[in-house]
Amino acid sequence: MALVAKAAPQPVMPRMAPREDLNPFRIAQIQFDMAAEYLKLDPGLRQVLRQPKRILEVSIPTKMDSGQLKVFTGYRVQHNVARGPAKGGIRYHPNVTLDEVKALAAWMTWKTATVNIPYGGGKGGIICDPKRMSHNELERMTRRYTSEILPIIGPDQDIPAPDMYTNAQTMAWIMDTYSMTKGYSSLGVVTGKPVSLGGSLGRNEATARGCLFVAEEACKVKKMSLRGATVAIQGFGNAGAIAARLFAEKKARIIAVSDSRGGVFNSRGIDPMKAVRYKERSGTVVGMPGASRISNDDLVTLKCDILIPAALENVITLHNADQIKAKIIAEAANGPTTPHADEVLARKGIFMLPDILANAGGVTVSYFEWAQNLQGYFWQEHEVSDRLSMVIRRAFSDVYETMRKYHTRMRAAAYILSVGRVADATLVRGLFP
Ligand code: NAD
Repeated sequence: MALVAKAAPQPVMPRMAPREDLNPFRIAQIQFDMAAEYLKLDPGLRQVLRQPKRILEVSIPTKMDSGQLKVFTGYRVQHNVARGPAKGGIRYHPNVTLDEVKALAAWMTWKTATVNIPYGGGKGGIICDPKRMSHNELERMTRRYTSEILPIIGPDQDIPAPDMYTNAQTMAWIMDTYSMTKGYSSLGVVTGKPVSLGGSLGRNEATARGCLFVAEEACKVKKMSLRGATVAIQGFGNAGAIAARLFAEKKARIIAVSDSRGGVFNSRGIDPMKAVRYKERSGTVVGMPGASRISNDDLVTLKCDILIPAALENVITLHNADQIKAKIIAEAANGPTTPHADEVLARKGIFMLPDILANAGGVTVSYFEWAQNLQGYFWQEHEVSDRLSMVIRRAFSDVYETMRKYHTRMRAAAYILSVGRVADATLVRGLFP
């Protein structure tokens, strides 16, 4: 059955509560509903694709260094597996909620379909404060969480990866716990592993590199030069700090960076490597020499060519959308912009590179890592980077063409493309039993 309809009239935005709804899962559903309207999806199919396929909530009893027992709550959500195993990161944060994990899992489904890699979408999280936990406490909590979600993860089933406040070490613990339980070493159960343990060269930089590739393509469309362009980056972790370095290598000028404690600004440019070294010593970029202090709120509304939100959800809302002055927004973070804010930004003519395209470099190289693990054959770094460039630039072009075909915007286009692909796979598989 043909699924992707011919160019349809612009659907009306679904009705939302008068006050802006910041629940990430409801936002994810609104974004899906828009695409479903464009595609005129069957109501039954919409019901299937709107909800996660499987949700697991687990209690994670963990012995703290003090000898006390603490029970954390964790989740693993598999949103959709029509096109391949579930795939998505694990987040450690005090504000993790089930709805946030459900939203992140849904966004993974649409992201893997946007870049057309053979995965579904999943996500995990633990409600905890990793900054206040020791290395040993984190290891014990991670191993127990792994053993609790073990029945539903695996290289053919669901493949976790890092997200906020988890990293290659976390993945190594998960891989080891899974392997010890199974009785053999399973490299393909997680991605984002250390290179010494079957990780891929280039995985660490992948999210930021993908973000750079889409920004380069956007600059071509906007007839702007990346060289000399001013860039503000919110969030200075894996995605944000590496983006700062890669954009600076292309001679863009990084005028502001920030982390959870605040930000720094210098109109003549900040050296990202100096910021990294300062953060390593002080735990924050705030206070680094040669830059003045700026709040996270002010960073987002700075006059700049490219704004890169690379931290949390809901940083661009109705509250500040009108004040955004960037020409291009590249969403390295997941869900930084609300649907209402999107409308405002579009009216202002800001070119939006949506999260499911702009940060898809991470999951793309995760896919390369998994493929290398399954084959037992490893690639050189330039092969990883060249293939990443091919996948991301092709995805940009697919989304851009869809945008023109449907006379819509980049985010809606990415959703039309990805929801259409997942819907096609679902229909052709048929319903079991
Ligand atoms: P990370 O833990 O490496 O870094 C997070 C950064 O955000 C830190 O610098 C932290 O200080 C900062 N931060 C936290 N709260 C903040 C706040 N309220 N205001 C400003 N900064 C704040 O995490 P990451 O892996 O870089 O992930 C960042 C975002 O990118 C998340 O939305 C994540 O889902 C998304 N993402 C990451 C990857 C990846 O491969 N790491 C892939 C795709 C998307």
